[in-house]
Amino acid sequence: MKPAPFRYERPATLEAVLALLDAHGAQAEILAGGQSLMPMLALRVARPDLVIDINRIAGLGDITAIPDGGVRIGARARHAEVMASPLVPALMRSALAHVAHPAIRNRGTLGGSLALADPAAEMPCCMVALGARIVTLSSRGETHHDAASFFHGLYSTARRPDEMILRIEIPPLGPQWRFAFLEEARRLGDYAIAGVALAMGAGEVRLAFCGVEPAPRCLPATEALILAGADPLPGLVELAPMDSDDAPEAYRRHLAGVLLKRALREVGHG
Ligand SMILES: Cc1cc2nc3c(=O)[nH]c(=O)nc-3n(C[C@H](O)[C@H](O)[C@H](O)COP(=O)(O)OP(=O)(O)OC[C@H]3O[C@@H](n4cnc5c(N)ncnc54)[C@H](O)[C@@H]3O)c2cc1C
Repeated sequence: MKPAPFRYERPATLEAVLALLDAHGAQAEILAGGQSLMPMLALRVARPDLVIDINRIAGLGDITAIPDGGVRIGARARHAEVMASPLVPALMRSALAHVAHPAIRNRGTLGGSLALADPAAEMPCCMVALGARIVTLSSRGETHHDAASFFHGLYSTARRPDEMILRIEIPPLGPQWRFAFLEEARRLGDYAIAGVALAMGAGEVRLAFCGVEPAPRCLPATEALILAGADPLPGLVELAPMDSDDAPEAYRRHLAGVLLKRALREVGHG
């Protein structure tokens, strides 16, 4: 199938992008890496009036250290660039090794992955586990979202139609932090059936799953059990796993427990 007709714009400034988003809102789609948008257009799952290509905007893919610690990642940073950056927490770099294949990682972007909010995608759950902040921009200004409240459900986020994702800010995480990302997928590079992102620091634990629930989120009961040195598996009753013929709810719940136990061993806890 071929895409339905659409208008194409390739502005050179953020101001021009925002003006187009103001005028077209939900009828516009941003083109970042095109790794998800192009198939969506071809299948007519997406039928925008306007495609706004953000690849001409200078600096939108920069990865920079924040002066008080942490790292700022431009929305258009390619997966391969994020993976190669020493500034980026090890959790993201190891999770990105599970994202698709090198050709897709050369074009696909962090902002595109977070905007799409595929429930099985690796980056959204890493953002929750890292306590990241997702910064959106519209003609009204910037809005700062905690990753834990940004993902609302299947392919659904707090981003409004007139906003774009501008950058992602990862807070400073010192050398005492340990990370593990593990997932189960049918083949290397496939989306995860289930995956876990775990971050443990001094007296703090953060974990989030992908592929298990419609959107990644914090799991306070499970985190409290881990901090108390108790068996975390009873905490996973707080999960409401998705159900499908190929991965029923009980299977996803079982995988979540197995992956969590392995991740805890990997960070030297239990
Ligand atoms: C064969 C294949 C396998 C894949 N496997 C995986 C996998 O295992 N794990 C995984 O996580 N992903 C996987 N992907 C998806 C890939 O990671 C994409 O890079 C990712 O979905 C983001 O796409 P993109 O950056 O190319 O964005 P695009 O395709 O350009 O856009 C995707 C969506 O995000 C919106 N968007 C993009 N940028 C912004 C922005 N800055 N602000 C607001 N909205 C924006 C677009 O309008 C569109 O709706 C796979 C893709 C393919 C083709």
